[in-house]
Amino acid sequence: MTCPGPRIGLFGGTFDPIHSGHVEVAEAVRAALRLDRMLVVVANDPWQKHDQPVSPPEDRFALVSAALADRPGLEASRIELDRGGPSYTVDTVRAVLADEPHAEVVMVVGADVVASIDTWHDHEALRELVTLAVVDRPGVPLVDPPPGWRSVRVDCAPVDVSSTALRSALESGEPVDGLVPDAVIRCIVERDLYAKGR
Ligand code: ATP
Repeated sequence: MTCPGPRIGLFGGTFDPIHSGHVEVAEAVRAALRLDRMLVVVANDPWQKHDQPVSPPEDRFALVSAALADRPGLEASRIELDRGGPSYTVDTVRAVLADEPHAEVVMVVGADVVASIDTWHDHEALRELVTLAVVDRPGVPLVDPPPGWRSVRVDCAPVDVSSTALRSALESGEPVDGLVPDAVIRCIVERDLYAKGR
């Protein structure tokens, strides 16, 4: 497909904490689709996770910044933190398009997210604005997006980890080798995150 503007990837998440699976996905999609930019967008208020405690946004942003410091093609984005309030992806995409009206926006989602994408805020508007880049997630059956979404599947090396499993391993002092970048571990220790009894 030809497009007059830049191709911009948006990879949104809670990133509590960011892990090696996230980094692998962001790199793989950027390379496979030859994106001009890949923004890793930290949710300010992940409204779909209101039933669970979530670390403060600035801590999660610091972890993402640490993870991406040596990844020149990936940008930690504060756009949802700076906007404040509940993090609706449709607002984020509109803001990106306001800055770059001719951009093609590629929204990266794991297989677990695709199944429920029609529960997202204003999903009818969102699906008119983006192309989904869908990646496999170990242990999650891959389903097609609901009707009406443009989508492309991207292969990437599977990393069987979730932030939930990682938090639990960190809280109980289990090894997390290979599951999270070293720079993120250092930042977690500095900020005293995910210690037992948090
Ligand atoms: P939690 O366990 O707290 O729900 P998570 O590991 O799913 O967290 P999120 O920040 O909620 O992480 O996920 C952001 C995005 O990353 C989602 O699109 C999700 O599908 C994708 N994702 C997360 N982990 C992986 C993984 N291991 N492989 C592929 N995609 C992943």
